[in-house]
Amino acid sequence: MLSRANGYNSCMLHPQDHSAFADTLLDWFEHNSRPLPWRVDYHPYHVWISEIMLQQTQMERGVDYFQRWTEQLPDIASVAAASEDTVLKLWEGLGYYSRVRNLHKAARLIMERHGGVFPEDLAAIRDLPGIGEYTAGAIASIAFGQDVVCVDANVERVIARMYDIDTPVKQNMPFIRSTAQALLPSGRAREFNQAMMELGALVCSKKAHCASCPVQQWCEANHLGIVHERPVPVPRKPIQHLDVATGVLVHEGRIFIQKRPEHGVWAGFWEFPGGCVEAGEAPHETVIREYMEEMEFPVVSEGKIAVINHGYTTYRVSLHCYFLRLADADPTPVLHAATEYRWVRFEELDNYTLPAGHRKLADHLATDMRLTALLQEPRR
Ligand code: SF4
Repeated sequence: MLSRANGYNSCMLHPQDHSAFADTLLDWFEHNSRPLPWRVDYHPYHVWISEIMLQQTQMERGVDYFQRWTEQLPDIASVAAASEDTVLKLWEGLGYYSRVRNLHKAARLIMERHGGVFPEDLAAIRDLPGIGEYTAGAIASIAFGQDVVCVDANVERVIARMYDIDTPVKQNMPFIRSTAQALLPSGRAREFNQAMMELGALVCSKKAHCASCPVQQWCEANHLGIVHERPVPVPRKPIQHLDVATGVLVHEGRIFIQKRPEHGVWAGFWEFPGGCVEAGEAPHETVIREYMEEMEFPVVSEGKIAVINHGYTTYRVSLHCYFLRLADADPTPVLHAATEYRWVRFEELDNYTLPAGHRKLADHLATDMRLTALLQEPRR
């Protein structure tokens, strides 16, 4: 018979079974863990980069980016010495760009404060930009073997099911953390923390594979037949739709791009200028207005390119794209919303980090014959 104490259901996993649970899980991990590149030597630099990259990123994609990153930037010193453009380019497509900006800042701080050696002390790790409680615990345990838990969404899901938590996990974090700590066998944090996360990723995933679960015998939700009801979901944030217009300005065989300011959305990225479509405005009018406001460029539309749909965080964006030409011959902008500008050849766009929608636009342009005609157009 179930009873409730302190808001949680009683559980099949009693303290006297913790050791058997850990042994079973560790044995499963030894035989089932994925061969990931940072698991070769557990070097703190590699663990750190992998942990930051894997936030909000699928494993397969994360591995590709990790390999590309570490080939070009093999250690902390090389990250600290790299330009912002270089680190942004290596991160392009991963999203959540505050992660790479903080990583860049942290590398420079490690050079200054710790002589280029990743700190071992938990408080010093926690003190670095972009490192929260989870990431600090992951680095302390996985890189340095400290008896510290790290609770990610996988661990939350496993514990919510094992202990049949009947309210959303975010309301139960003290219980989940203390439970993870109680289950952790001293001296085995590196393997145990990874085993819990790996179990959540491979077996106790959103659609649970209970038949192949090594710890099924201790799982309350499985015992009750309510795995599909755990974890209890939280209401999703509403999706917002945005209409944005942008223009590809072509002049004497080159395309205009500008660099966004250091703060705000897509900070430090290069872009085709544009902005949000205002009430009562048609998208082509938006582009003409934005070019005048941002660069004092009088421009004329040369036709619509496409509407490109993309999403970021809780936004769904319709990006209305136009070809443009200058209405007079002076190609020198007065920058009001950017820090730099370039007139680039189409092939050179690959060297610049663009926001996701603009990268899609650049890919689209590669197959648009109208661009070829505009680039070859003689001077007017
Ligand atoms: S038995 Fe099923 S629900 Fe329980 S921990 Fe294993 S996979 Fe998850």
